[in-house]
Amino acid sequence: GQRLKGKRALITAAGQGIGRATALAMADEGAQVFATDVNMHALSTIRDANHENMEIFELDARDDESVKAGVARARPDVLFNCAGFVHHGTVLDAKDDEWDFAFDLNVRSMLRTIRAALPGMLEQGAGSIINMSSACSSVIGAPNRFIYGTTKAAVIGLTKSVAVDYIAKGIRCNCICPGTVESPSWHERVDALGEQLGSKDEAMKQFVSRQPMGRVATADEIAALVVYLASDESAFTTGHPHIIDGGWSGQ
Ligand code: NAD
Repeated sequence: GQRLKGKRALITAAGQGIGRATALAMADEGAQVFATDVNMHALSTIRDANHENMEIFELDARDDESVKAGVARARPDVLFNCAGFVHHGTVLDAKDDEWDFAFDLNVRSMLRTIRAALPGMLEQGAGSIINMSSACSSVIGAPNRFIYGTTKAAVIGLTKSVAVDYIAKGIRCNCICPGTVESPSWHERVDALGEQLGSKDEAMKQFVSRQPMGRVATADEIAALVVYLASDESAFTTGHPHIIDGGWSGQ
């Protein structure tokens, strides 16, 4: 398809999982894609897809200079802020440095990228910003996701604030709230729980059972929503969390 023809899309955390699936889906839809990650080893394998309209480079979403340089290179009209980390534990498990790290990567990274990319979007009078939140946020609480859910709720507030300030300037800002999605880090979380429970099967069952559809999402299913939000088909939506969670929060 060519639903994103003429658009320049900058994606953080495109090395694996949802970010990677989205980079490929956007390239398939004709965007000029700038796929970035802090892990060049993971990111470099995306080249195998052989897209002419995809550039890859290192971008650390926790580093101001790295973000500024990346935005200057990409000059995006679509920005997908995908970078994020899942902390495991309750409020009593939470360490201050874990809280600071999660807020820096999951939330402040978006301050960095949006602050850098907005002026260019405003000049053009057009832009679509898509932020990665989660169903586990202000939408729903999940066990042992205290720090994570708190950061992802903050993303929803950040999204609404940006949307309202620039709604009349042609800029849209939405976020997405996925349920459980198959990705490399998700497999690591299943393995870790499996070790705790003494059974990987049991761990897999726990993760899958919270999804009423009886399965987790594929990264491609999430990428399809991001493509829609990046495209002009979604021109009438801004400031919203778009929930895509297999019915987890919809019961
Ligand atoms: P993942 O966790 O397997 O991969 C994360 C990627 O982020 C890696 O490639 C890593 O190198 C990159 N990264 C880490 N620190 C970075 C930094 N400082 N700058 C740039 N990139 C960095 O992928 P995933 O599971 O698809 O998760 C992607 C996003 O989706 C995260 O924000 C996550 O919270 C969110 N999410 C995931 C799920 C899920 O179940 N997998 C559900 C809801 C939301």
